[in-house]
Amino acid sequence: MNFPFFVCILGSSSAMPAFGRNTSAQVLSHNSRLFLLDCGEGAQLQFRKYQFRNSRLDAIFISHLHGDHIWGLPGFLTTLSLSNHLEPLVIYGPKGLKNLVEHMIVASQSFIKYPLEIIEIEPSNSFPYIVYENKGLQVSCFPLQHRIECYGFLFQEKPKRARFMYYEAKRDGIPKEYYSLLKNGAALVLQNGLEIAANQYLGEAPPSFSYAYCTDTRYSDSYLPYIQGATVLYHEATFTQEFLVRAEETAHSTAQEAALAAKTAGVEQLIIGHFSARYRYLDTFLAESQSIFANTELAIEGRMFPIPPPAILPLTEGLEDASNHDRTTPDFE
Ligand SMILES: [Zn+2]
Repeated sequence: MNFPFFVCILGSSSAMPAFGRNTSAQVLSHNSRLFLLDCGEGAQLQFRKYQFRNSRLDAIFISHLHGDHIWGLPGFLTTLSLSNHLEPLVIYGPKGLKNLVEHMIVASQSFIKYPLEIIEIEPSNSFPYIVYENKGLQVSCFPLQHRIECYGFLFQEKPKRARFMYYEAKRDGIPKEYYSLLKNGAALVLQNGLEIAANQYLGEAPPSFSYAYCTDTRYSDSYLPYIQGATVLYHEATFTQEFLVRAEETAHSTAQEAALAAKTAGVEQLIIGHFSARYRYLDTFLAESQSIFANTELAIEGRMFPIPPPAILPLTEGLEDASNHDRTTPDFE
């Protein structure tokens, strides 16, 4: 996909794989660097299926330690090693993650050849705080409202460089050797006496965009300030409104609540996912969310969402119309 910033859904099922849906995992791509968001069972298969390259993976962000968000880690991490991946990899997540991953590696006598660092989020910190940054992107974390310690992440592009007005500089006969100085906004006096003011050949900086990842969580206004104005929000919607009580019991959200979060936070686009395994069809999720927040999309596996969303939205895959729940309630959702 020729977008500098996009997210690809690898899994969107809550608790267990169901109806062809894998458990939670997403790939976020920014300027060709990749980030894995949660690592549910099967994440490595999906990562390969959608042809992402190991060598571009820089970090993994784990929201919480429920199995449907982490059971893919042992396979993912060891396959990387078996594939002769040698670049450093960092995993960010809640307390207990380091212990868990190290035990899995030691108990299975696996060997990780690449430098692997696990950084646990300190719950006593004041939020939001930046857990990761590179040249163009910073990632901050903030607490969500789940049954166990759980964090959301905001992936925010750093301010971009102003556009260099190449044609204007060429038109004015500025020698090329000055271009790099002009790109940095320098004020100059050329040899022929021509004076150039600071930023004279700089246009507007392109806007920066952001992606907020909120799963798993009971809907609450506690985390909305952290995602205010995000370009695209992924928010869990484990249930339809019919199962609001179950959502409250299990500290999850309904599609309408996800939509309310999107509306209140003033985001541009909402992606809903983490669908309960009781639902074969997802049309009710979409309808309920769109009744509150029109620009909602379903987290269908393999779908890629550009950030910002394009002016013309891609067609939503055909969603069959059928009654929703035809399965017994799983043990946890
Ligand atoms: Zn959970």
